[in-house]
Amino acid sequence: MLHEKPSERESVSDWLRRKKQSVSLIRSLWEPLCVAALNLSIEQASAELFYSVLKKTILGKRKDLSLIFSRVGLSELFSNEFERLINACGGKLFFRTSVWSLEFEENYLKSIKTVDGKEFASDSVDYFLSALPWHILGSLLPKESSLRKNCEFIEQSPILSLYFWVDRPFTDQPVIGFLDSPVQWLFSRNLIMDKELLSFPFYSYVAVISAPPKNILSLSSKEVEKIIWKEVNRLIPRSIESKLCGSFLFKSLGATPKFDPTSLKYRPHPQTEWKNFVIAGDWTDTGLPATIEGAILSGKKAARLIDSLTPLSKLTLAGISKEKKFKNILLQSLGSRKEVEEQYNHS
Ligand SMILES: Cc1cc2nc3c(=O)[nH]c(=O)nc-3n(C[C@H](O)[C@H](O)[C@H](O)COP(=O)(O)OP(=O)(O)OC[C@H]3O[C@@H](n4cnc5c(N)ncnc54)[C@H](O)[C@@H]3O)c2cc1C
Repeated sequence: MLHEKPSERESVSDWLRRKKQSVSLIRSLWEPLCVAALNLSIEQASAELFYSVLKKTILGKRKDLSLIFSRVGLSELFSNEFERLINACGGKLFFRTSVWSLEFEENYLKSIKTVDGKEFASDSVDYFLSALPWHILGSLLPKESSLRKNCEFIEQSPILSLYFWVDRPFTDQPVIGFLDSPVQWLFSRNLIMDKELLSFPFYSYVAVISAPPKNILSLSSKEVEKIIWKEVNRLIPRSIESKLCGSFLFKSLGATPKFDPTSLKYRPHPQTEWKNFVIAGDWTDTGLPATIEGAILSGKKAARLIDSLTPLSKLTLAGISKEKKFKNILLQSLGSRKEVEEQYNHS
């Protein structure tokens, strides 16, 4: 099945049918994998993109198929170390400082203005690198720009996550996949997260509905809670003995870009029509779905592009990662010699 790349016009379901995959295999393996990786149903998702996921996972190494859980929130996981690294490289992070406008002049981005009145002008920087989501970046670009048109062609695919609390646990599994249900995944937060982050005396779970259909998306939080709790009770009968004590629905409407066969070709490269403006983000053309891994790859691609454009840019991570200096900066900023040594030897 994986010997031949699907056509760029094929959806995952067309491709699976052409490859004579059985109904039960599609239902129990390919569909859950597709929805988890691409946040889109098999009828809509691009077969080409799904194929690249399968090649990297099923045909990859054992660790490429591992499920990785963060024991802390993602901000805590990434932000603190990242800030120390940026500071150590001479940079500065501004938190809660939204970009308000981008001012362009001919082939250059002249300045960035923020909501709180800051301005970053091109005479003080070599390159601007945007990591904004596509729907935000698109709205800040000139109407006639080709990048804006690309951004406008890419639609959004939502994710609903219901965090809920019960008085007693009903499973000892950290993660459960649901088949034939509007709900796809249930995560036991007590078994995954650091204990101090959880609100004792409750047991905390999160249920995920990827790419929900419109009839679910339009429901109120209470109605979504009702559907999810009914599904949990149906598929994990032990949960009926637990009392649902509270819930919080996180609706992420633009959770991921919708990569169907039509929109895939609009994923842009890091280089833009402006000479000093480079873009990154999970939605750019990485060959991977919109995931954390895709976002990281896009950042590396953008940094490499900046390095290739100017020999003077010594401060991007890609450009100096092979230099001793970078290793020392990392050691100073991150502290943990063993981890840095390992990272450095892999780079
Ligand atoms: C509910 C949910 C669950 C997910 N689960 C997984 C998962 O299990 N595994 C996985 O790999 N991926 C998962 N993803 C996808 C993953 O989060 C993204 O692929 C990744 O965060 C993309 O990184 P990014 O840097 O491209 O964009 P983002 O993480 O979206 O970063 C863009 C940043 O731009 C900021 N921003 C927006 N507007 C402005 C503005 N005007 N000015 C300044 N800043 C602005 C935003 O605040 C944000 O911090 C999930 C996403 C969601 C929504």
